[in-house]
Amino acid sequence: MTVCIIGGGIIGLCSAWYAAEQGFDVTVLERGPESGDSCSLGNAGMIVPSHFVPLAAPGMMAYGLKQLTNPESPFWIRPKPTKELIDWGLKFMQSATQEHVERSAPLLRDLNNLSRAEYERLAEAFGNEFGLVKRGLLMLTKTQHALDEEIAMAAKARALGIPAEALTPEETAQLDPAITMDVAGSVYFPNDCHLAPGKLVAGLTKRLRERGVQIIYSAAVTGWVTTRGRVSAALTPAGQFEADQFVLAGGAWSPEAAQGLGLSLPMQAGKGYSLTLENPKQLPELCSIFVEARVAVTPMGGTLRVGGTMEIAGNDLSVNPRRVAGIVKSVPRYFPAFSEDDFAGLTPWSGLRPVSPDGLPYLGRPAKWSNVVVATGHAMMGLSLGPVSGKLVGELLADQSPSIALELLSPDRFSSASKG
Ligand SMILES: Cc1cc2nc3c(=O)[nH]c(=O)nc-3n(C[C@H](O)[C@H](O)[C@H](O)COP(=O)(O)OP(=O)(O)OC[C@H]3O[C@@H](n4cnc5c(N)ncnc54)[C@H](O)[C@@H]3O)c2cc1C
Repeated sequence: MTVCIIGGGIIGLCSAWYAAEQGFDVTVLERGPESGDSCSLGNAGMIVPSHFVPLAAPGMMAYGLKQLTNPESPFWIRPKPTKELIDWGLKFMQSATQEHVERSAPLLRDLNNLSRAEYERLAEAFGNEFGLVKRGLLMLTKTQHALDEEIAMAAKARALGIPAEALTPEETAQLDPAITMDVAGSVYFPNDCHLAPGKLVAGLTKRLRERGVQIIYSAAVTGWVTTRGRVSAALTPAGQFEADQFVLAGGAWSPEAAQGLGLSLPMQAGKGYSLTLENPKQLPELCSIFVEARVAVTPMGGTLRVGGTMEIAGNDLSVNPRRVAGIVKSVPRYFPAFSEDDFAGLTPWSGLRPVSPDGLPYLGRPAKWSNVVVATGHAMMGLSLGPVSGKLVGELLADQSPSIALELLSPDRFSSASKG
């Protein structure tokens, strides 16, 4: 049985890994060159059982609108919206309810916990060449108000069985003495982890090839051959690829590819940036999030990566220096040993998160095609959810019942047919 996977980011590669484990003969088609980039390389590398609240939550829309006039804010939305963006925004508003958050939280917890366990298994199989560190994550706050909100969130986490602990500034410093912090306090999530995403992608690519998986670069899927409810081939400038089953894992570009199959996967690209200091003045041992600034900070080997912003502005990877400046300015505020000058001359990396309107991935078989699996829309958690997504894709391909119920992730949930 053959499987053709569209997209060579973390979701496509993990899908390939688990499909190969299930015994499938796998080909991955990647639009970019082998030396190319995807959202999966420059991200903050955090594995986040702590993130049980979907992006579409009450208050998010108001927060986003408040940020619009600040050029250095962590959130921005294109002022002249396209028809797709208006449609996505309306769906986002409809989804951002307390009921949605409560329904999604146990699912996100289960997905992240299983993914973490799978990462432990992969780290063992790969000799931990991607640097998995299981020391937890700190939510660092500058203000008491933000700390109180995080403490309230920690109580909700514990109610879901996710360990979380509120710490004073002194306790925070004791947990990570290698870094000087200027904070009001923190919430510590001990089960979170971090890793080096570039090494993970490189390691997966190498080992997939050793297992006989073909990864074909410069092969953008631009069309499909279909017959009677089945897809029989993907069309690319590099030729036509036939397979028994297909997996759509094209990240922020998935809707384009899905359109050719008549599937509706509302999605916006959420652009973010990261900067990596090769020789940081200080190196924390834990990854952390600067809560008010919405900036993620991760030690990766001897380097330190800082990343953030969410710009909803189309599939455009161009760098906005004002927003990068917003990230850089936040670092000395929380980590005073650093100055803005430490980042001078660094080239910012940009990546497009695939963001669905309800903040949940699309994962499952669309009703229209019996031999297609969709795996995309992971927004801010694609790295974290890579292995569990791959495992679930493998189970779907093999017609096994999935380890986690997938109803809330149906790729048909926004299609008019599913509402009819
Ligand atoms: C600044 C920043 C920090 C982040 N930090 C974290 C973090 O700490 N933890 C976390 O879990 N997540 C994080 N994320 C999110 C995470 O990076 C993404 O969710 C994840 O990389 C998405 O993976 P993907 O495989 O779906 O998409 P991608 O990595 O974008 O891969 C999709 C691939 O499909 C290819 N493709 C698209 N269309 C076609 C086509 N038609 N034919 C062939 N190929 C195609 C593309 O070229 C691309 O290589 C962060 C993101 C950003 C921007």
